Amino acid sequence: MDHFLYRDGALHAEDVAIPEIAAAVGTPFYVYSAATLTRHYRLFTEALTPLPHLVCFAIKSLSNVAVLKLLGDLGAGMDVVSGGEYRRAKAAGVPGSRIVFSGVGKTREEMRLALEGGIRQFNVESEPEMRALSEVATALGVVAPIAVRVNPDVDARTHAKIATGKSENKFGIPIARASEVYAEAARLPGLRVVGIDVHIGSQLTELAPFEAAYTKVAELTQRLRGEGHVIERLDLGGGLGIPYTRSNEAPPLPSDYGAMVKRVLGGLGCEIEIEPGRLISGNSGLLVASVIYVKQGEGRDFLILDAAMNDLVRPAMYEAHHDIIPVTEPPPASPTQPFDVVGPVCETGDTFARGREMPLLAEGDLVAFRSAGAYGAVMASEYNSRPLIPEVLVKGDHFAVIRARPSFDEILNRDTIPSWL
Ligand SMILES: *Cc1c(COP(=O)(O)O)cnc(C)c1O
Repeated sequence: MDHFLYRDGALHAEDVAIPEIAAAVGTPFYVYSAATLTRHYRLFTEALTPLPHLVCFAIKSLSNVAVLKLLGDLGAGMDVVSGGEYRRAKAAGVPGSRIVFSGVGKTREEMRLALEGGIRQFNVESEPEMRALSEVATALGVVAPIAVRVNPDVDARTHAKIATGKSENKFGIPIARASEVYAEAARLPGLRVVGIDVHIGSQLTELAPFEAAYTKVAELTQRLRGEGHVIERLDLGGGLGIPYTRSNEAPPLPSDYGAMVKRVLGGLGCEIEIEPGRLISGNSGLLVASVIYVKQGEGRDFLILDAAMNDLVRPAMYEAHHDIIPVTEPPPASPTQPFDVVGPVCETGDTFARGREMPLLAEGDLVAFRSAGAYGAVMASEYNSRPLIPEVLVKGDHFAVIRARPSFDEILNRDTIPSWL
């Protein structure tokens, strides 16, 4: 469920008409709904109650500081994968005690930043990383709380580029080697083992792969406890998928996921951490664009938009589907025709949809990409020297620009011409 509905013939974000925002900020732009973000966060906390738990929002899916503040104020923790994301979480007022540091290649500098600023736990992904963290923590005279990310070798049955839990992926340590790695962790100075971490991929549409992974984590918990380790937290990662189309089968709900977690892991007396990104942010955002031209091609017609692959790369990168709807509600039974919906970038990959049935749109009409809140703005680039597009947050009848469009002067001033040239 989201809060983007037609009202009086125009698509609204909560109580604000999209054309009103478009007139104020210009297209293209991202718009997020505070009510939808809040609702999705709450679904997860409710799903895990009464187990002790912390829902750590995966910042990489949507990292605007205003969004992080909104979620942080509700009590959310944050899952960060870089020093930059750590800084964002802190800038949003989230205490270090609610920040989990994930990622396969944390640098010593990033470790130092988090140890000095406060951190709930590092999810360590390899032995060399564990040794580096031990050195950094020891040099600072502190103790780093760690969980080791194990790779359970389960098939997440999702897009290959976002599956992370098979043994051939670069993530985590093989679960079969966990005893050895935890034994080393216990020996190294400056580290304190607090739990186990697992994350098997993104946009999962079934519970079975999660359950297979968590069953292995439950067994591992018992084994490691038997070997003398304190396992008090289980970080289960993120990855629950969202419906990108209205028609296809709906992925499991957070409540189903929570029930499974309680069944598989509830008896272990651990605090549960989860790291959802997409399910909180995905359906909380739209990308709004204008039609620049309607071009009649050879046997196909093109809708050329002012948004492009640099603004929303998911279709080009993952063959992802986004529903694209007109901002002005078409009257019932109005005609449609197939269009290729494309952006202006000089790449054939800059195609959002092929042969998509769309109402008959004209130059200047607004369209909205649904489910664009996750992995949208955060993956944007300035390819083709197209400025990063603004982000807008709506709450009730308020809206505000939470990241402004940079001016061309700002963009050009980032480049320097060497004096010797
Ligand atoms: C990407 C990622 C997440 C979030 O994944 P979603 O599919 O957006 O829920 C959580 N944890 C880790 C370690 C990740 O890499």
